[in-house]
Amino acid sequence: MTLALGAPPYELSRSPAAARVGALASASGLLLAHFEYRVELPLPEAWIPNGRADLGDPPGWQTGVLPESKYHSFRHERRLGSFHPSHRSKWTAHELCHGLLGFAWRPGAPPLFHALAARLAEALPVTLWYFLDEDGLARCQDHDGPLFDAYCERCEAVHAAGTGPRRPEWIERGQVFLARELDAVRRSAREGRMIPNRYATLDLGSDGLAYAASHRARLDSPELERWVELFCPPGSGHHLSLEALEARVIEVAADLMGEGRASPLMPTVAEGTARDLWIAQDVGYRLLQIRADTDGDAADALDDLVEALAATPAELEGHIDAYAALADEYEMPPAEEVFAVGYPLPLGLGRSVRQIAEGLETAAPNTLGLLGERLDEVVGAFVTADPVVRRPLAQRFARVLADLGARGDALLADAADLARFEAALGGPPAPDLEALTLVETVDDVSGAVVLSPAARLLRFDWDVPGYIDGLITRDDRRQPTSLLLAPNAEREVVVIPLEEAEAAVLDSAGSSPFDAAALACAPDLIGLGVLRPIRYPV
Ligand SMILES: [Zn+2]
Ligand SMILES: [Zn+2]
Repeated sequence: MTLALGAPPYELSRSPAAARVGALASASGLLLAHFEYRVELPLPEAWIPNGRADLGDPPGWQTGVLPESKYHSFRHERRLGSFHPSHRSKWTAHELCHGLLGFAWRPGAPPLFHALAARLAEALPVTLWYFLDEDGLARCQDHDGPLFDAYCERCEAVHAAGTGPRRPEWIERGQVFLARELDAVRRSAREGRMIPNRYATLDLGSDGLAYAASHRARLDSPELERWVELFCPPGSGHHLSLEALEARVIEVAADLMGEGRASPLMPTVAEGTARDLWIAQDVGYRLLQIRADTDGDAADALDDLVEALAATPAELEGHIDAYAALADEYEMPPAEEVFAVGYPLPLGLGRSVRQIAEGLETAAPNTLGLLGERLDEVVGAFVTADPVVRRPLAQRFARVLADLGARGDALLADAADLARFEAALGGPPAPDLEALTLVETVDDVSGAVVLSPAARLLRFDWDVPGYIDGLITRDDRRQPTSLLLAPNAEREVVVIPLEEAEAAVLDSAGSSPFDAAALACAPDLIGLGVLRPIRYPV
């Protein structure tokens, strides 16, 4: 049986290396947790690194985006990866590759061991990201090779459409990078100091040291030791030595480079499947995290529960019920929070409705206002229907509302329009700095032009901005309304009203060039940097 991995399937067929990660991850029963639906529990006080009280609570929503704090979301011993809808599609194979490799940990290990373990665990996922995944990956006509910090919407669209030409030089470069990295790790272990292997902006040695510094209290905690004892049987990706982790890195690397076959993770579980174990690991970790700030009878009861979960991971429903009973009796986080893990669990748990409703409040407040007393019902329907796609929350909400509204529900159809408008206002793409910079040099505004990729054309059959501004009610005469939205250089969204005939021209052109003569307002739009001549003077 093929289990869903928790990511859009094309993200694991985009390149031969990503496809091998997908096949191994699938055979290992691994999966990704949806970041926006996963509730991060507060850090136990004893785990907070010195001088970093700010890490106690994970960051909250900002205009429909839930920022990822590297510290909270990433731990090398976690086999489950993270799916963040605002991140690029390269992450899926990277995250699952971490899952396949595992982690090195032994109780009482010194910080340099932890730093080198982190560095080793990162070496292949990073090689995959910057090298191996580029072989056979389709890119837009302007890009070739990894983009580092840049984000390209066109590249993302091309990745989704299929694969590109084989480029074996990326495998060769990856081999060189990885060999140097593993060499540096071995030398570091021998010499007892961190030997760098700098490549462009990458420095996995210093990343490893940063990881060891911020996670040290947690890595040395009795809870982590207990967790490894209970939830990491042989074959589950736990390595006691750096050498064992390095051997696993070499085995999986050879597979991703087309030079052999690695074995999937095959944990020895007394009962249930590998996936049952990964889920029990995740849930067990969360329970131990709560245990770290608990004492007395409540702590004893949690200990019993964690042991029961480790013994019978396939009987998760019973363990969830047992936790809910404990949370009723003692002061502990409610079950809906603890079991909001970002993937489906028994009893309809797994996705936090509370957290997503808070996100919608920051992304689409006017839409929620319009829903009024139907709010809970509609948010519940959205949480059930929300697909795993790389789109911002407000856009996904608008689309699901439109689907629901298309069934004859006029309120939801109008709410979908509001959400579409709020999505465009709240999550603008990066400004088109080229068009904004070069506009001064345009003296001839005739000829072929094209809409800037940063501009969004929105068309409604009623005056949505007028409604939001309180100028009309939903019952007022329907006035078709078309707008162009684009960020200026300060990233503020500029809203440009259009005549319907002008909007029709832009609508039919889409992202293709058209003759500026067809659009009376072309000179104005060029001046605003939202319409571009197909070539600028040199
Ligand atoms: Zn990583
Ligand atoms: Zn591109």
